[in-house]
Amino acid sequence: MISEKMSDLLSKQMNLELCSSYMYLAIASNFNNLGLSGMAHWMRIQAAEEICHAMKIYNHIEDRGGKVVLMDIGKPPSETVVPLEVFRRSLSHEEVISSQINDLITAAYEENDQASLSFLKWFVDEQIQEEAAIRKIIQRLELIEDQKQGMLIVDQELNKRMISILKYI
Ligand code: MG
Repeated sequence: MISEKMSDLLSKQMNLELCSSYMYLAIASNFNNLGLSGMAHWMRIQAAEEICHAMKIYNHIEDRGGKVVLMDIGKPPSETVVPLEVFRRSLSHEEVISSQINDLITAAYEENDQASLSFLKWFVDEQIQEEAAIRKIIQRLELIEDQKQGMLIVDQELNKRMISILKYI
């Protein structure tokens, strides 16, 4: 059975994943309003993945006999609509999430919670992919600077993103 401390920490992480989803959803809408439908699509998928992350944590807490504690999901921050800035902020956000996963691992070590350590390994690997994907987009946007044609090409590229459900099965 999971300790109350670990269960509570994981509930907080679940809340952060849902807050992330809300943030990406707001960004998606902003991009859509600008006609950047590929970037909007990429952000909608990102939002959906964050819900999957939250549900993975939800399932882990329940599977281990813990209590899921649901918390408020605040209004997402008002975002700039400049794509390069949006993706830079998204990277900073994911770096914070990565460090929170690290803190959870430290807590799991302190509790000698081997099951949570095993479970959290997936999130460590996932965060590497999340950060790498956003860094790649930032590089592309930096290359094109403010050229509209280049922006539309990146927009089309981001429209190809698919959610990889297999990761969550
Ligand atoms: Mg996440």
